[in-house]
Amino acid sequence: MNSCPLCSAKLVKKYNKNKRHIITLKGEFWVKERVLRCRNRECPGHALSFRAEDFQAAIIPYKIFGLDVILHIGTL
Ligand SMILES: [Zn+2]
Repeated sequence: MNSCPLCSAKLVKKYNKNKRHIITLKGEFWVKERVLRCRNRECPGHALSFRAEDFQAAIIPYKIFGLDVILHIGTL
């Protein structure tokens, strides 16, 4: 997501989350998520936080293993 869903203005960095160590079926990674906000100060999206949907779908909060590892173990 590169543009605001409310006004289509460009999204800019709001803050970076702390680095996380994640183990997936593709290997081990250190990841740092960048949280975005709308650059348009008149838009309600300026006060909101936009997070990476793909990243949120691949991890489990407070867990080191990715969702793909948990699903793989479940199928074994
Ligand atoms: Zn906006």
